[in-house]
Amino acid sequence: MLEHDVIIVGGGLAGCRAAVEIARTNPSLNVAVVAKTHPIRSHSVAAQGGMAASLKNVDPEDSWEAHAFDTVKGSDYLADQDAVAILTQEAPNVVIDLEHMGVLFSRLPDGRIAQRAFGGHSHNRTCYAADKTGHAILHELVNNLRRNGVKVYQEWYVMRLILEAGVAKGVVMFRIQDGHLEVVRAKAVMFATGGYGRVYNTTSNDYASAGDGLAMTAQAGLPLEDMEFVQFHPTGLYPVGVLISEAVRGEGAYLINSEGERFMQRYAPSRMELAPRDITSRAIAYEIRAGRGVNSDGSAGGPFVYLDLRHMGKEKIMSRVPFCWEEAHRLVGVDAVTQPMPVRPTIHYCMGGIPVNTDCQVRSGADGVVEGFFSAGETSCVSVHGANRLGSNSLLECVVYGKRAGASIARYVENRKFPTINEQKYINEAKQEIQSLIEQPGKLRINQVRQGFQDAMTEYCGVFRTAELMEQGLQKIQEYQQQYSQIYLDDKGKDWNTELVEALELRSLMVVGQLIMNSAFNRRESRGAHFREDYAQRDDSNFLRHTFAYYSPAGIDIQYVPVNVGMFQPQERKY
Ligand SMILES: Cc1cc2nc3c(=O)[nH]c(=O)nc-3n(C[C@H](O)[C@H](O)[C@H](O)COP(=O)(O)OP(=O)(O)OC[C@H]3O[C@@H](n4cnc5c(N)ncnc54)[C@H](O)[C@@H]3O)c2cc1C
Repeated sequence: MLEHDVIIVGGGLAGCRAAVEIARTNPSLNVAVVAKTHPIRSHSVAAQGGMAASLKNVDPEDSWEAHAFDTVKGSDYLADQDAVAILTQEAPNVVIDLEHMGVLFSRLPDGRIAQRAFGGHSHNRTCYAADKTGHAILHELVNNLRRNGVKVYQEWYVMRLILEAGVAKGVVMFRIQDGHLEVVRAKAVMFATGGYGRVYNTTSNDYASAGDGLAMTAQAGLPLEDMEFVQFHPTGLYPVGVLISEAVRGEGAYLINSEGERFMQRYAPSRMELAPRDITSRAIAYEIRAGRGVNSDGSAGGPFVYLDLRHMGKEKIMSRVPFCWEEAHRLVGVDAVTQPMPVRPTIHYCMGGIPVNTDCQVRSGADGVVEGFFSAGETSCVSVHGANRLGSNSLLECVVYGKRAGASIARYVENRKFPTINEQKYINEAKQEIQSLIEQPGKLRINQVRQGFQDAMTEYCGVFRTAELMEQGLQKIQEYQQQYSQIYLDDKGKDWNTELVEALELRSLMVVGQLIMNSAFNRRESRGAHFREDYAQRDDSNFLRHTFAYYSPAGIDIQYVPVNVGMFQPQERKY
């Protein structure tokens, strides 16, 4: 059995930042990071637009309080305000700290870190490295893992959380290269496994964003919080769904319908293209529904709208958002200097997740925490984003709360003993699970079942939701779940059995999808990204509460827990 004081699952921004903090706090601790990809291929590397912090380099009027207000208003008042206060107060320091680690941020002419406009933020406060911010930060953090002696297990797939009597004791994982299974015991386990974009059929997320950590947590009997809040990013490149960063609108691009109109003036006249993402995504969906979308031949009535950069000029496009230009050029053959880009909403981010307190300890319910279990980053829900995340607040959350998780774990493991684990039992169960998947005499291909499931999630639990739609959807996804026992794997071997990984990921997607749809069905109001056509208003008297959804193979149990309302009382949300 392998042994580490701390095992962190996830090599993205949150996991790496936590590992660095633990090593800095107590260099004698034995810390390991596991990732099913190479850490540098974690989805964090794809983050483009930037990271918010009230540094006041561009806008001296900015303050952490203004950042906190924007975040809480953006969240449609569902965010926990104690967590938001920490996020926004610590933001300037974590940016400076990253800079000291070597992250190359874009600069103002006088050498200070540059800051740009972003949706829902009232001041120019997003720090960036052109449109490759995640790349710049993750590379430095991964370098810092090595420098701090953190053990990295790259391309190992974690398939189970070991949780016994309310104590997290370790994980079960296998090396993808040769199928070698290991049980790892640890004094503290942290999940930083990222999002679940692949639950849907069109997403900006990478293939690894399959919600594994969420599913393992739910299957261990722990609740997941606010899973109904799924962020649609307004500008996925049509038809591929790849992200065109909000930075493009932050730098001045327009959204245009088939009539050549900047239609945001009807939906958010004061913020226009820089309204929060839920509002902008719905606006695009309404335009398309009303027949003002565009077809590939330029005619009206089609499935996308235009993102128009032409007035920005070549020099600005190439210096501020070169990667977005390149993506559109490479993937759909559009030269954004002379042509508008075709865009429509794409699944982007998971506001909900594993519930944690502000020390990143996983919550077992309304009160109480799970011993030895921590989480941060997109997979967790602390909740700073509530019902809708503002752009550039997620990288910030990963770094602020990744760092806090690290400090909290370093304190927790001090003077603690290793737990006892029956290694053989876990190895046998894992072997059996893998064997039965490999040998199962089914008739269906993984891809077939996955595509059907993703289409059902998109159709029945997308931008617009109703009870009637979701009732049909719940039925549908149950049918796909039954098909899971009929999939067959061509690859029966151990070496690089990526089909086996896909089968396990599909199981995660299905658990997560079921939690999303049930949580959405039970929230009979519209708030942030969760929009119910049959309950179009926000309902604070019944639903200013967090959903805690408990999974069991028999069904989902839904409970509600209070929101931490602090400085800002809920108001009507207008832009
Ligand atoms: C295209 C794109 C652009 C974005 N741009 C921005 C932006 O400009 N600003 C912003 O604030 N946010 C942005 N976001 C959101 C932000 O990038 C993410 O929310 C954040 O990077 C998530 O980091 P993370 O550390 O939580 O997880 P990730 O970076 O997703 O890392 C997850 C890790 O978990 C590992 N893992 C998962 N499951 C397993 C398993 N079963 N076994 C072993 N390892 C596992 C993966 O291998 C990976 O290492 C963007 C997101 C996308 C998709």
